[in-house]
Amino acid sequence: MTIPLCDLKTQYLSLRDEILATIDELCLNSAFIKGKYLHEFEQSFLKEHNTSFGLGCSDGTSAVALALEGLGVSQGDEVILPSHTFVATAEAVCHVGATPIFADIKADDYTVDPNDIKQKLSPRTKAIIPVHLYGTPCDMDEILDIAQENHLKVIEDAAQAHFAKYKGQYVGTFGDAATYSFYPGKNLGAYGDAGFIICKTQKLEQRLKRLVDHGRLDKFGHDIIGYNRRMDAIQAAILSIKLKHIHTWTANRQKIARDYNQTLQTEGFKVIEPSESKDPTYHVYCIEVENRDEVRSTLDNIGIKTGIHYPQPVHRLEAFKKFHNDSLPITEKIASRILSLPIYPEMSQTNVDKVKEAIIKYA
Ligand SMILES: *Cc1c(COP(=O)(O)O)cnc(C)c1O
Repeated sequence: MTIPLCDLKTQYLSLRDEILATIDELCLNSAFIKGKYLHEFEQSFLKEHNTSFGLGCSDGTSAVALALEGLGVSQGDEVILPSHTFVATAEAVCHVGATPIFADIKADDYTVDPNDIKQKLSPRTKAIIPVHLYGTPCDMDEILDIAQENHLKVIEDAAQAHFAKYKGQYVGTFGDAATYSFYPGKNLGAYGDAGFIICKTQKLEQRLKRLVDHGRLDKFGHDIIGYNRRMDAIQAAILSIKLKHIHTWTANRQKIARDYNQTLQTEGFKVIEPSESKDPTYHVYCIEVENRDEVRSTLDNIGIKTGIHYPQPVHRLEAFKKFHNDSLPITEKIASRILSLPIYPEMSQTNVDKVKEAIIKYA
């Protein structure tokens, strides 16, 4: 008996007939690129966010790079982002030729610290990328204030935070743009790579629609140099089916997190709780432990899989060393302590109880 970190197969089995029938229909129609399946998903994803502009794209990393390029960030510009994130956020900054400037996080919920963003501002700062890491919304009011005062663009990296809420409003609807990943393991996952960009303005949406499709407005008119970064219609069709269930799946994650929180907090662990302003969606359920290697191997021996998101802060990775001078005390401190516990919508109460029982021994 093992308890995985996440379980994609159980969810697939619950949707299998509908997904296979839809893929069959799509193939019979040869509707592989653009077309109705993509359009339908784009419209429903935007409608679900109560917003109007945005588009599907190939993956979440390209989504960040496209948003930056669409908003005019380029060579010589600086972009402030947390170092405590998946490497993709920083890669995307480099893809448009800009320089990533890493900010520290807050010890309470691991999201980027607005006070440290202020410390990292320079005359070359062009944009801020708050990452709603683990599904926990960033301090958007403070970040938007800094952006407004300094005329900066804000791109929310919501790859881990589908339908998390900040002050009652979905994340992804605060910035100039917001980016999503539908990597299979994300809270809303495709069966391959896919991504999305929510845009504040129709102008940005139109520009990005061209960029992802060879700079094209119509079949042969290419007035800007673009890319091939479209979302596959098969992924869009699968995502339309899965989107109907996302709120139920999110509620299940939140219920499991509440259960974990109740027990683990009593035992003295630091946990991420929903608050008046933040309604997290727990893509990752993260705690801190002293003796991580030991905890991991003991849990592994009794069949409980754990993860680390992420073992090395981005500014400490070989590829990014050239960008960074300052130390980021909180980011560096937690990197050796964080541990991700199993969480997925279909996780049984028995398994939740087993994980709790195993982990409280390390309080
Ligand atoms: C997954 C992820 C990405 C990249 O998404 P891909 O679809 O895998 O390219 C970017 N940022 C964060 C925070 C992520 O978790």
